[in-house]
Amino acid sequence: MSSLGNLTVLTGPSGVGKGTIVRKILDKHSDVWLSISATTRHPRAGEIDGQHYFFLEQKEFQKIIDSGGFLEWASFSNNCYGTPQKIVKEKIEKGTNVLLEIELEGARQIRNSFPEALQIFLAPPNLSELEKRIRGRGTETESSIKDRLAIAKKEIIAKKEFDAVVINDDIDKAFREIEGLMGLKSS
Ligand code: 5GP
Repeated sequence: MSSLGNLTVLTGPSGVGKGTIVRKILDKHSDVWLSISATTRHPRAGEIDGQHYFFLEQKEFQKIIDSGGFLEWASFSNNCYGTPQKIVKEKIEKGTNVLLEIELEGARQIRNSFPEALQIFLAPPNLSELEKRIRGRGTETESSIKDRLAIAKKEIIAKKEFDAVVINDDIDKAFREIEGLMGLKSS
């Protein structure tokens, strides 16, 4: 029997740099698979359905909730986000290392269903730096920025719940720390 893959959850406020770290992990480690989430949020410029997210109508999202198709799901800033259950379980059973890039409520749900998962919180050096990064990204409306910063304050308070907290004051340093936590070989 082959051994199971590891499950790693990466959480942290919107704009903290989770996406950049995830891209670096995937570029360097072909043995890590990133779960593609479903969301009711509208695609941002350049986002591709089935690649960045599965973009769904609320009704379609609800159907998946009702059929138990999500490993976890949460609402975040007026939209729903969820991790498809079947494929994640299949990957783990086949021995693939799976990475979830999700927000706090989802991470809490995974803690119940997969207590063995490694939970990492990526934190900003401070809130003003986080605001600068969200604004710099240029993807959000003013009300979405305010909302995301308010959520960020609550998420940062919860960082103690995680197995490890990594501060993203230097992207390469944060990446190496996460590589180490996940037991990935750096070269
Ligand atoms: P964004 O709209 O910026 O792409 O994502 C908003 C937040 O939702 C981010 O913190 C992101 O990590 C989180 N997120 C993305 N996919 C999922 C998911 O499947 N489940 C949960 N709970 N959160 C997700």
